[in-house]
Amino acid sequence: MAQQQDTFLYALSSNNAWAGYKAHQNPSFFPKLAAGQSPQILWLGCSDSRCPETTILGLQPGDVFVHRNIANIISPTDINTSAVIEYAVVHLKVKHVVLCGHTACGGAVASLGDSRVGGVLDTWLTPLKAVRAAHREELDGIKDDAARAVRIAELNVDAGVKVLLANFTITEAIQDRGLQVHGVIFDIASGRIKDLGLGTKGGNWSGGEDVVRGKHAQIVFRGGKGEMAVK
Ligand SMILES: [Zn+2]
Repeated sequence: MAQQQDTFLYALSSNNAWAGYKAHQNPSFFPKLAAGQSPQILWLGCSDSRCPETTILGLQPGDVFVHRNIANIISPTDINTSAVIEYAVVHLKVKHVVLCGHTACGGAVASLGDSRVGGVLDTWLTPLKAVRAAHREELDGIKDDAARAVRIAELNVDAGVKVLLANFTITEAIQDRGLQVHGVIFDIASGRIKDLGLGTKGGNWSGGEDVVRGKHAQIVFRGGKGEMAVK
């Protein structure tokens, strides 16, 4: 109990130090943030503590609009995901929707097993169980447990991207203003994001460069694929 409290107190003091450092480094940083947001990326990812989108992208508060859930499952009837997509695409007019799965995903591993997780979790993981059933032969053929988990995470991103591309909010934005949809995997062991080449792959987009700049790094989207570059 005492240790839990210490962890929370440490987090608060860490926040205090961070806020002081940011304000010192750039006095207009927080006043600018407080004035409003205009993120260019909507990130749909896993709740896993090792996949904090803004941190792993090397970006900053204000750069990424976010929805994360267990195993980054995109269900068309999930009003939570749908509301985030609608706000980000229609109101904030983000340029990119990024669906990110990751290696060693607990949800992916659970969906590969036959045992019951318990509570509401089995219901939540049902779409991932369906992905497993649809690709059972391929998945069972992968003998390495970690590799099998990565493969179902990729197939889950593929299934999620298909749901995104069937969402009218998204398809209309693709047609009207060249919104791009990307499916990627985050490799926790290396810190690298791999573009799976799913989604719009450029769509109506002319094929030029689209640069999303953060404070310490930038992402350059070429032909619909993102490349990280540290400034
Ligand atoms: Zn996960």
